Amino acid sequence: MTGVITWTRTDESPELTSISLLPIVKHFLAAADVGINELDISFAGRILQEFSEFLEPQQRAESAIKALADLTERADTNIIKLPNASATDNQLKDAVRELQGKGFALPTYPEAPQSPAEKAIKARYDGLTGSVVNPVLRQGNAVRSIPAAIKQAARDNPHALGEWKSDSHTRVATMQQGDFLDTEHSITLNSNGQAHIRFAGNDGQSHILKDDINIKVGDIIDTAIMRRTDLHDFIDRAIAEADQHDLLLSLHLKATMMKKTDGVIFGDVLERYFAPVFDKYSAELDALGFDPQNGMDDLLNKLETLPQERADPIRQSIQKCLQDGAPLAMANVQNDKHHLSSPNNVIVDVSMANLARWGGEVQAKDGQYGDTLAVIPDSTYAKMHQSGIAFLKAHGSPDVKTMGSVTTVRLQADGAEEYGSKNTTFTAPAEGRIELVSASGEVLNSQNVAKGDLFRLCQTSERAVQNWARLAIEKGKERQTMPVFWLDSQRAHDREIIKTLAKEATFGDGQMPDYILLPPDEAMTYTLERSYAGNDTLCVTGNLIGDHITDYFPILEIGSSAKMLSVINLLEGGLVAETGSGGTAPDLLGMIENRNHFLWDDTGTALALAEALRHLSVQCHNTKAAIMADALESATVRYIFDKRSPSPDGLDTRESHFYLAKYWAQALEQQDDDPALKTEFEKLARKLLACEPHILADLKEERGKAQDLGGRYHFPEDTITTLMRPAEDFSL
Ligand code: MG
Repeated sequence: MTGVITWTRTDESPELTSISLLPIVKHFLAAADVGINELDISFAGRILQEFSEFLEPQQRAESAIKALADLTERADTNIIKLPNASATDNQLKDAVRELQGKGFALPTYPEAPQSPAEKAIKARYDGLTGSVVNPVLRQGNAVRSIPAAIKQAARDNPHALGEWKSDSHTRVATMQQGDFLDTEHSITLNSNGQAHIRFAGNDGQSHILKDDINIKVGDIIDTAIMRRTDLHDFIDRAIAEADQHDLLLSLHLKATMMKKTDGVIFGDVLERYFAPVFDKYSAELDALGFDPQNGMDDLLNKLETLPQERADPIRQSIQKCLQDGAPLAMANVQNDKHHLSSPNNVIVDVSMANLARWGGEVQAKDGQYGDTLAVIPDSTYAKMHQSGIAFLKAHGSPDVKTMGSVTTVRLQADGAEEYGSKNTTFTAPAEGRIELVSASGEVLNSQNVAKGDLFRLCQTSERAVQNWARLAIEKGKERQTMPVFWLDSQRAHDREIIKTLAKEATFGDGQMPDYILLPPDEAMTYTLERSYAGNDTLCVTGNLIGDHITDYFPILEIGSSAKMLSVINLLEGGLVAETGSGGTAPDLLGMIENRNHFLWDDTGTALALAEALRHLSVQCHNTKAAIMADALESATVRYIFDKRSPSPDGLDTRESHFYLAKYWAQALEQQDDDPALKTEFEKLARKLLACEPHILADLKEERGKAQDLGGRYHFPEDTITTLMRPAEDFSL
């Protein structure tokens, strides 16, 4: 084999699609001497791998997560990553029962473990739930771009956009002082070793908040705080401003993902907005165990448990706040959900992109659209959204048919700029200092805090920054465009990043190629100007800014951020191409069970595979792989323009795969760079053309009938192969 691609086998819909698509992929890749290494990272697979010693010898398998971790360390790694399930505790119990019923002698999940052995088993099971796979793969920086074919399809068939008017009153409200940007303190370390985070109270008491932090020379360490008194002043002013100017009050945070900071801020906004309720009924709310971080819906549910005569006055007080206070923006008018109903209704990176898309308007309770005061407390990213709004007001909505495309190179390797990181974020217990202290007792970075202030620390390694900058320069050369680094020399963290960039070692020859450096608010304007003029832009950002703009620009350009090509360039040289929208996986499984119509769309998988093949062709000097990649890409373009994606009243995933195979074979037949491939795929193209009516009839035969998948977590191979590959003439 001249190169191998690792294909992750996962769960639910992505697993069904693999059963249909993978044999096609294997057939084509074999002709280019590229092998497929299948790695079972499904939830059921991981359970069986973990408890291998309980199983029959033929049922045992090595840990796929360990194999995946090993692969990230290799330069020749190429992974196609399909979405996998991050299971909950209930799903774990269901999966264990299903597997036991299928002859796997797994230990039963100990709900209330007594003996040390039971406790150990429970701990092993618990380690399998939640997000387990992605942290292993995030060992590199990411490039996200809109594939050319998808961009063209949007230009040909533009999605709807709202109208931006020059007299729009929509604007951002953000903190002027005491936020994470204002208080940020950043240093680059010059020693290796261990460190810990300590709280030192003004009363002389001190204790350790987090131990065992590994530090290295070149690490950039930031600390920053959100001062709660400043936050509360800001919230009060924002509410008053919305009220006074008759703007809908909207709140934009990542309250569930960044629970320890944004979750608390969400709770504070709720408490300030409904201040009269909290003033008057604090004892009742405490007795109900209400936490403002859970949103107003949670309080309304809890009130159901009180007798009516006690609940009603509280309900009335809530209603009065809603009537008298600044009008709240709605998250969902049909269900009567406003921005404070629940912390997960509004997610800032997507909500601000949608605000830009829909002419700066949000919905009021009566369903009418209106201008808004968009409350984004932390000015680290609020300013760039404000400059986006100013640009859109001045220049109107973009023209989808002509606007350029944005590609983002995002710093995320080695956990860089993980502001949401739970284990280095704390609420100050009292007045004092929170500080990072080395093993020798030296205070490396420190913040003065008052009780309740939110403290966060994050660590960005030098090798992650170097890899990110190199990647940006490489992509810039590839695309013949100057990378735009979204960095602010006035910001503490960015200043350290700029220093690392400027080091000679970064680019070996001591020459820093041409690039542009702009603070995020100016970079936003610059990028929009370029886009409006029809130019493509390569944006190079930190993790947080990247999280925002990889939604912002695609939502303007193609109406969604789900069809992006996302490639992680691993620090050791390998590549991970991520594909698919995991959020749709369970619903689509229900549809195939009910009426044998499967709507998983593999456009993204095909484009990810083309990317992986191209990478492999360079790494392994395999020219056939490059030809395969080109042919697959042109087949995918045709697939998009001929509208061969699955749809509720049209094609099914299996039929889509047939067209993809047919177009891919035809593209190879049409090329002249490799005569052997041309001859081989000429035959296949003819066969598929001749058998097309048969194959499509076979693929459709059982359509409309309910199907038994034979399980949820571990599909029986025979049943599922017959279901997903019903056409005999299509067995390549
Ligand atoms: Mg995002």
